[in-house]
Amino acid sequence: MLSDRIQTLSSSLTIAISSLARDLKAQGKDVLSFSAGEPDFGTPRRIKDEAIKAINDGFTQYTAVPGIPELLEAIAGKLKRDNGLEYAPSDIIASNGAKHSLFNLCQALINEGDEVIIPAPYWVTYPEQVKYSQGVPVIIETDETNNFKITAKQLKEAITPKTKMLILTTPSNPTGSIYSRSELEAIGEVLKGTEIIVASDEMYEKLVYGVEFTATASISEDMFQRTVTINGLSKSVAMTGWRFGYLASPNKKLISVMNKLQSQSTSNINSITQKAAIPALNGEVDDEIEMMRTAFEARAKEATELMNEIDGLSVLKPEGAFYLFVNIKDISNDSITFCKELLQDVGVAVVPGIGFGSEGYFRFSFATDISTIREGIRRIEKFVQQKK
Ligand code: PLP
Repeated sequence: MLSDRIQTLSSSLTIAISSLARDLKAQGKDVLSFSAGEPDFGTPRRIKDEAIKAINDGFTQYTAVPGIPELLEAIAGKLKRDNGLEYAPSDIIASNGAKHSLFNLCQALINEGDEVIIPAPYWVTYPEQVKYSQGVPVIIETDETNNFKITAKQLKEAITPKTKMLILTTPSNPTGSIYSRSELEAIGEVLKGTEIIVASDEMYEKLVYGVEFTATASISEDMFQRTVTINGLSKSVAMTGWRFGYLASPNKKLISVMNKLQSQSTSNINSITQKAAIPALNGEVDDEIEMMRTAFEARAKEATELMNEIDGLSVLKPEGAFYLFVNIKDISNDSITFCKELLQDVGVAVVPGIGFGSEGYFRFSFATDISTIREGIRRIEKFVQQKK
């Protein structure tokens, strides 16, 4: 009955952990969750007011498929101001979250058997969307030795005549690593002369801690032409539920087919979200973004220090995003069992590393208040001491 394509999708490995957490909570157990992929802050007042105004003004009808001109101009303005990128509004499509942007891109580009290079640890969605598009994920393993980033040499070795796309995430979910300008230049050198598209997921761009963020497309004209820049406001402006993301590319043909796909699938994104996103893109909530960034930075520092005090665990200080990717290899090489036992024994929910393609780790989200973080890490320590 079901399509072959739908059966390529795996159900999320994290579901087992979150349903166990729910069961334990229902039984009255005190469970602390560090599995969230979203900020614990609310959306800034200015954005909410703009949405209310849009409703009251009756801005509630269909819009142009890629977004209203004002929105596309605001995105182009943001990309120019923050990243030095010169996109025309017609190079941009707003979609229902960056996840949807990536989905449109995979559907538009990938033919059966095409290879897509994905560095691991990766955001769980990438290989699933590639498989759903009948492509083949080609995983490049990384670890702490290069701060979880691929090298130009690794990339070169992974490229075949079937390589269609490379997905880069900077800053990374789950490791927080950021590619430096020179690392991106080295990657750009390897890609020169090929037809490989780079999907650069820059979702966590604004959440960086003392490290300079470089947009992949800004490296060179060659990289600008081959890169599809993907970004959104979910993480940086605490707007996960609004469903707003976008992509930009100077490749007119690519943008045109993605517009066609979006017009025949979801049409425009919510008209109210479009209005609400504009002040954020125009820099009107930069103070609130900075307040959240500062809070995340302080948590990143303290959580990293506390985690590294636990005998048997180690973690690199994240350069961006709001996760710690904690190495548990001295304790266990089965991250699912480790995370299940951690939850059952001490009531701490984290996500197994294998879900991100890297065994021997767990992901700890610090998008929660500092006292909960301290208590969670104290419990993790107790659990690890019992294990040793
Ligand atoms: N990219 C990365 C690396 C993410 O971690 C996420 C969310 O978890 C997204 C994209 C998708 O964000 P959204 O669809 O809310 O814009």
